[in-house]
Amino acid sequence: MARTDRSRNIPHWYAGDDDADVLSLTSGEGARVTDDAGDEYLDFMAQLYCVNAGHSCAPIVDAMTQQAREIPYVSSSKTTPARDELAARLADRAPGSLNDVFFSISGSEANESAIQIAREYQDASTVLTRWRSYHGSTYAAGGLSGDPETRSVVERHAATTGVGKFLPPMVHNSPFDGDTPDEIGQQAADHLEFVIKNEGPDSVAAVLTEPVAGTSGAYPAPPGYFERVREICDEYDVLLIADEVISGFGRCGDWFGIGTEGVEPDMITFAKGVTSAYAPLAGVLADEEIAAEIRADGHPLGQTFAGHPVACAAGNAAMDAYADGLIENCRELAPYLEQRLRELEARYGAVADVHGRGLLWSVEFGDPETGEPFVDPRVERDADNPVEDVREVATDHGVLFGSGRPDTQVLCSPPLCIDRADIDEA
Ligand code: PLP
Repeated sequence: MARTDRSRNIPHWYAGDDDADVLSLTSGEGARVTDDAGDEYLDFMAQLYCVNAGHSCAPIVDAMTQQAREIPYVSSSKTTPARDELAARLADRAPGSLNDVFFSISGSEANESAIQIAREYQDASTVLTRWRSYHGSTYAAGGLSGDPETRSVVERHAATTGVGKFLPPMVHNSPFDGDTPDEIGQQAADHLEFVIKNEGPDSVAAVLTEPVAGTSGAYPAPPGYFERVREICDEYDVLLIADEVISGFGRCGDWFGIGTEGVEPDMITFAKGVTSAYAPLAGVLADEEIAAEIRADGHPLGQTFAGHPVACAAGNAAMDAYADGLIENCRELAPYLEQRLRELEARYGAVADVHGRGLLWSVEFGDPETGEPFVDPRVERDADNPVEDVREVATDHGVLFGSGRPDTQVLCSPPLCIDRADIDEA
């Protein structure tokens, strides 16, 4: 299908080629977006896995407008009802004793706040994160990420001090040799214990990890993995921080991805879906005992726009939308999306695996026999990558998919308001 030529010179920094083939989107409605040439696309990636309530959701827009009219900005040394309400609602939805919210602006900053809190509380500096993870792009959050593509930038510029890495509990192309997901989960947890022991448990402040990996390939952990990780963290007095920047706010079928694991972390970091991406907002949900101690000693460093009232108003309205049926819709459609993706596995010799949870799925391209990807997962994204062609062809047919890192997969992460017909179309 021939669509409008989208090459353009872009007058701002864009992380692409000079003659970028970039969509300029001018409107959106639900799961559909339209570009400046009038072409319509099914947004099967919710932009960056974040427009969970769909585009142009009127109650969110109205709540933001009302807040901007009443009082658009209030500093962090004061408060406003929208901010208080959102904090209370987040605490209500978070597991157990995670009742204290420290707002920030982006997922990267939320993770930086979380490690400041963990290091202060534990009086220890090492934070363990896994390979095949993404935790952000700022100085320290870049160092936390175990993402092969951004690794080279991280090694040149970002702070990797005080960060140790462990192997991920992936089942497809696993670094472990267990025969079943359960065995792999067990081996992966044993490996984490080995890493903690070798780092020296007293020096380890926290394990920070995504409950369901996002841009590193939408892989959930095998059953029982997180329960064992929780036990190990308790045994060695290490905090467990769940990075829910993608997996939260209905994306994986629950308010938080860790909820499905039946495990209570010591902190949760969130961003993206909290406002359904209508305004930048992020934060840390911390266990009340940890928060009390940190509050007594001061607090982590904040930012001017942290907990911005207009963003908090968007957050309250987005939480209404999630509670009013979107999380339910995600739960209902998840098995159907899985079924349709598994049909691809059976139909095409180029699909090595599909995996995910809720409405966050990855189609892995590679050899179905060996699982080997067509491109080396450690190399940087390049134009000859056949997986890039898949996304381009899909765009030409009017469907937008995500890419993720490493670039061996097509990511599906639609707004939670989609229906079966949208899944069929994608
Ligand atoms: N953590 C996870 C799991 C992410 O996927 C991302 C971004 O994609 C981040 C943190 C960083 O969030 P932000 O881009 O808002 O800084």
